[in-house]
Amino acid sequence: MSAPRIEIDLGVVERNTRVLVDRLAARDVRVLGVTKAVLGSPRVAAAMLRGGAVGLGDARVENLARLDGSVPRTLIRSPMLSQVAQVVRTATASLNTEPAVLAALDDAAAHAGIRHDVILMVELGDLREGIAVDDVSAAVKVVLASRSLRLRGLGTNLACQNGVVPDDANMDVLHRLVDRSEAQHGITLDVVSGGNSAALDWALTTSRLGRTNELRLGEAILLGTEPLRRTPITGLSTNAFALVGEIIEVADKPARPWGNQALATYGEPPSRTAGGTRRQAIVALGRQDVDIDGLIPPAGVSVLGMSSDHLVLDIGDHRMTVGDELCFRLGYGALVRAMTSPFVNRAEVSASPALTTQPAGWPNVTEITTSSPAAMLTSDTVTPAGS
Ligand SMILES: *Cc1c(COP(=O)(O)O)cnc(C)c1O
Repeated sequence: MSAPRIEIDLGVVERNTRVLVDRLAARDVRVLGVTKAVLGSPRVAAAMLRGGAVGLGDARVENLARLDGSVPRTLIRSPMLSQVAQVVRTATASLNTEPAVLAALDDAAAHAGIRHDVILMVELGDLREGIAVDDVSAAVKVVLASRSLRLRGLGTNLACQNGVVPDDANMDVLHRLVDRSEAQHGITLDVVSGGNSAALDWALTTSRLGRTNELRLGEAILLGTEPLRRTPITGLSTNAFALVGEIIEVADKPARPWGNQALATYGEPPSRTAGGTRRQAIVALGRQDVDIDGLIPPAGVSVLGMSSDHLVLDIGDHRMTVGDELCFRLGYGALVRAMTSPFVNRAEVSASPALTTQPAGWPNVTEITTSSPAAMLTSDTVTPAGS
């Protein structure tokens, strides 16, 4: 398969899910696997389910529509009013904050003869989606008075907008609200959806887990990192994804540009003060394919800059030639951009092709593939050579 392409190791996705599911099961917390970063890939979703996720979540109806219809599927962004009919047909549940949307969902579900599950999201300080604590009771009443909606529980989302860290103080507000809602309305709430990957640390270490019994996990499963500090999570692999690009020019060039300098295409040019020459390679990858932030080059290689279609690298002492492929690791933003670029091919494999070749003399062989990987990618059930 041609470069640029993103290689997804389904085995890693399954194992990462399993590790997280087991750790959280010890605390009676379930995992919803979030597929939005992989555009609702059915095979990635299946790997999450094999790893023990109890259901799937995605922010887009279009992605949920790709998923197995027999599995619980939650729309994790408040439905657009214009999409409620699709939502009740495509999602078994949705996260909600707006009474007008709840009313429209109820009409759509009644019209379709379907029951739709609702989780009400509570604002705890990160200031993205969420109902003010004082308004939750009114929203609960709206759902309880509906014909076709079923109130499954309450939830919250922290860290995404303002980096607010889930802790005992803010999570206690949610737990007390769950208790109060049950008492006040004479109901039982099955689901307390405590957050995204940023809530993992809290959920695994707190002595006050309270009513939280579910997390919605994307990044932790897919990248093996936790978002608050962007650090790898112990026991998880960070190698589920590799972005493979192809080298189109290699040359020794002066380290410093010459001529009068003004702005470059994407703003200030990087300052280049060193003298001498540099071995520079251009990879056919650009900002149309991936975000420069979160693009992690192989060891011994550094990124000099990226424009729409050219990624310029300092390759140090490496001997690379035109046609060679290079493997990059991805942060979350870079992953999302690469997955949504129409120029990036996708190869879902059951073992990392980057691990199948070990060219001699490379500083970090697991991150680099050789120039003819076609044989490694002819099927999507590649197994590592010699293992
Ligand atoms: C994206 C998202 C998630 C998953 O977040 P990760 O950090 O990838 O785990 C969970 N809940 C909501 C509401 C989201 O938008």
